[in-house]
Amino acid sequence: MAKKQFKAESKRLLDLMINSIYTNKEIFLREILSNASDAIDKLCYLSLTDDQVGLDRGDFRIDILVDKDARTITVRDNGIGMTLAEAEANLGVIAKSGSYQFRDEMDKEAAGEDLSIIGQFGVGFYSAFMVSDEVTVLSRKYGESEGVKWTSKGADGYTVAPFEKDTVGTDVVMHLKPDTEDELYGTYLEKWKIKALVKKYSDYVRWPIRMDLEHQERFETGETNDEGQPKVEYRMVTENEIINSMVPIWQRSKQEVTDDDCIAWYKEKNRDRKDPCALIRVSAEGLVSYKAMLFVPGEENPNAFVGDKKGGITLYSNGVMIMEHCDKLVHDYFEFVKGVVDSPDLSLNISREILQHDRQLRVIGQNLEKKIKGELEKMMKEDKPKYEEFFRNFGVHLKAGCCDEYGRYKDFLRDLLIFYTGEDTQVTLKEYVANMPESQQKIYFANSDTLKHAISLPQCDQVRERGYEILYLTHPIDELVLENLREQDGKPFCNVVTDDLGFETEEEKKAAEERDIENKELLDFVKESLGEAVSKVRLSRKLEKLPCCLTTEGPLTLEMERYFRRGPSEEMRKLRAERVLELNAEHKAVQALRAAFENGEKDKAASLAKILETMAELMAGCDIEDPASFVGLVSELF
Ligand code: ADP
Repeated sequence: MAKKQFKAESKRLLDLMINSIYTNKEIFLREILSNASDAIDKLCYLSLTDDQVGLDRGDFRIDILVDKDARTITVRDNGIGMTLAEAEANLGVIAKSGSYQFRDEMDKEAAGEDLSIIGQFGVGFYSAFMVSDEVTVLSRKYGESEGVKWTSKGADGYTVAPFEKDTVGTDVVMHLKPDTEDELYGTYLEKWKIKALVKKYSDYVRWPIRMDLEHQERFETGETNDEGQPKVEYRMVTENEIINSMVPIWQRSKQEVTDDDCIAWYKEKNRDRKDPCALIRVSAEGLVSYKAMLFVPGEENPNAFVGDKKGGITLYSNGVMIMEHCDKLVHDYFEFVKGVVDSPDLSLNISREILQHDRQLRVIGQNLEKKIKGELEKMMKEDKPKYEEFFRNFGVHLKAGCCDEYGRYKDFLRDLLIFYTGEDTQVTLKEYVANMPESQQKIYFANSDTLKHAISLPQCDQVRERGYEILYLTHPIDELVLENLREQDGKPFCNVVTDDLGFETEEEKKAAEERDIENKELLDFVKESLGEAVSKVRLSRKLEKLPCCLTTEGPLTLEMERYFRRGPSEEMRKLRAERVLELNAEHKAVQALRAAFENGEKDKAASLAKILETMAELMAGCDIEDPASFVGLVSELF
């Protein structure tokens, strides 16, 4: 029989596919099963109007037959089948239907010789060649008396000829390649492996996928043992079993499947012992139809930060899995959401690269984001403690989302953020503004490494005394978040440590400036005696009860400095905020310093200055460089 050549472009693609390092060979089974399922869909559809088909819905099936001796796996369907001409047209050229997207992408990529992209695609029938050195297709089209046999050993071409076939439908016989050091193709002959692959990729194919499975059966031999009990032995029996579950849980209605069922499914699937904190079930019809079942886990995946991204959403198209851990469907700020999305409108041949540009997926992604946000808002309203727990786990994703892409998503996310205003109270920015007395013009915030430290910052006193609330920030990203949000309901943010609190009248400001001038000599002396430790010393306008505090000037705050100190590069770790020591002129400690200075007791004045500066550092949550010499200085005061 004359060997025919594949069309030129198919040959090139086939070559590339077979010979490139394909990372995900196992998807071949999914591809072949999905073709079988499509073929059954077509005949089933015909049977609705054509009595001649002679098959009921329940008669359709896909069989997987394994012959270890012959080293073959056969996928058999009783679907629509192919004529000789169709087999040649469909299997001889890759530019068919779903595959053309692949070709398009390949053309672009091939120019750059980047073969890695191949591994990203579902490539239909051709994927059989990733694991087989010969593929034979035996098929008979519904309504035809004669069948066809199509055979190929890969890129060098194929043969096609008429063939006697008793039944309508298609057998795809894959002869597996010999095992190599890197790849044990023989594993695909193991039934446990096939079962696992069906479970992983094709569990929800709508038609039953059947396979003969052997298992032990207990039987009574008819004899009795010494104790007079019936004698029991075991034997291997083979049973033809359905190995896919056919109807996915997310395809079933809320009447059929309770939320508890969904939660149990989630826990098993994700090996998560904790209940998810939210379940979102969507059944959308319209421009794009899809079903989705999403979960917000009960706790952060402890391995997420070491690259183990178990999260994400799995995409299905009509029950066929097309992508696991699809992290581009929703934005990174919702990356903790797990679950499935199933849409008949999705192409099977979708890659991670083109995912973001797929219009349908974008529509689905946007809708899902709205649903997720809605669910979280509902949780916040109805069960605040639960929301607080959620936020403890995942709030940082939402905060990072506010800073991503120059704050592009900040307005979508801002109402989901909560901040501490006390040890046990957390509020949204909206709530904060709603609580503001009329006289309050700004949203005050104080930042430190812990909640306790932030609350006890001396600069907070003046603000609280006026009855104003303060947002206490403790995460390194918090300040950046507020910077991106810029304002809330027209009210600007004000850092109680570094910004003007806006409390002083013009006269008070003037008086303060005069005071600065009067004290210039003292302040210069303190600065000089402290050397590099601070870049400026001034009188405070914020302190009420305490003698001193530390603040900063310039873009770097103490919080950022702390954050950078844990950074990856030496350069980063060396970054220091410009420290400003503020003294409370009314406080007796500062008055003692002034007295020593004015009496010419320079040494005493210098050590008092050092003590005040170190105290300010301590209150700001800084580590002090030389605790022993600080203790030495303080001990001198007794
Ligand atoms: P796709 O499924 O994306 O169209 P494939 O390369 O997987 O691309 O298959 C090409 C074509 O071959 C299919 O569109 C279908 O017409 C035909 N085909 C493949 N497998 C079968 C089958 N089991 N039964 C009938 N037709 C099939």
